[in-house]
Amino acid sequence: MIPFLDLKSLNAAHREELIEAATRVIDSGWYIQGECLKRFEEEFTAYTGARHTVGVANGLDALILTIRAWKELGKLKDGDEVIVPANTYIATLLAITENKLTPVLVEPDADTYNLCPKNIERALTDKTRLIMPVHLYGQLADMPAIDAIAKRENLLVLEDSAQAHGAQVAGKSAGNWGDASGFSFYPGKNLGALGDAGAITSSDAELVNMIQALRNYGSHEKYKNLVQGVNSRLDEIQAAMLSVKLKYLQGQIEARRRVAAIYMAGIKNPLIKLPLDSSVDVMNHISHVWHLFVVRSEVREALQRHLTESGVQTLIHYPIPPHQQQAYAKSDFFNKSFPITERIHREVLSLPISPVMTDAEAQRVVEACNSFSVDA
Ligand SMILES: *Cc1c(COP(=O)(O)O)cnc(C)c1O
Repeated sequence: MIPFLDLKSLNAAHREELIEAATRVIDSGWYIQGECLKRFEEEFTAYTGARHTVGVANGLDALILTIRAWKELGKLKDGDEVIVPANTYIATLLAITENKLTPVLVEPDADTYNLCPKNIERALTDKTRLIMPVHLYGQLADMPAIDAIAKRENLLVLEDSAQAHGAQVAGKSAGNWGDASGFSFYPGKNLGALGDAGAITSSDAELVNMIQALRNYGSHEKYKNLVQGVNSRLDEIQAAMLSVKLKYLQGQIEARRRVAAIYMAGIKNPLIKLPLDSSVDVMNHISHVWHLFVVRSEVREALQRHLTESGVQTLIHYPIPPHQQQAYAKSDFFNKSFPITERIHREVLSLPISPVMTDAEAQRVVEACNSFSVDA
């Protein structure tokens, strides 16, 4: 079986270095808010190009705490509207509703799956305060256009960059657009810890200062609490793992691109729609980091069955859109009609992709895709 993502091999490639780094933390006697966190924050700041990084416990907290910080700073308040793509992972919405803001779901672009500037324009009201683009599957949303709308309308922009470490548009990376950006270092993400971790990047020093307090009980100074914070810290041991893995991220992105190129060139089946390869859009310098390689098919269930029988593990990102989730049964967007989003959720299928896949494995996936047909 070609696994969807072989995390064990992925981390085994850096086993000695990871063990060495973990050992240093164990022997240091210092396990939270120490030198490893500081170092990783500096390294990730350099990687994204934003001015600051704040490590937190996970990607969801990164989004929640950024919005919460804006509330503490008086820039957002209960009931403010947030424009968000309807086809996102539920975490983006949870960050909005947890903060008592109102999500305004909009249809994504049908080809890139990302927030579409035209639909943002249509969703603007006098209550709109924030736009949350989600760089789904590893490709940046149209950030030049989104930032331009935000500037014109005086709105905040929070990127959900959980799937897009290293992705760029116009030479500028995820994490360095908008006002702030939330990252996840969940083990399966392109930059993954060996457990949960997340971070916020931003060039806004006031915002960063507030998030630094919020993640640590609302405190910069022990026993002095400025705001009612939470405990959402990035452990030293995970920061140390991330510093090791960050060194290899760019190489791993290249390895993902190699697999993607084999799929793009090799998969030729009218029943399978390939992702839009905007990485060839040299004019806009869009670079895809292929967190997921997502194809579409009107006969997805049959395709998935065929691939499983051919020894190829696939997953669906995601089977149920947020507006149809029981968690939001009482929201006004529950069961509203979003035809593009619903069609995406019916048709998408994620093929295996990872830096540890061999060309031969990728070729086998291509062959399995090409041998798929529907029985008459
Ligand atoms: C993974 C993910 C998150 C949440 O990250 P966690 O670290 O699991 O909390 C948020 N948004 C998107 C789009 C994600 O893929």
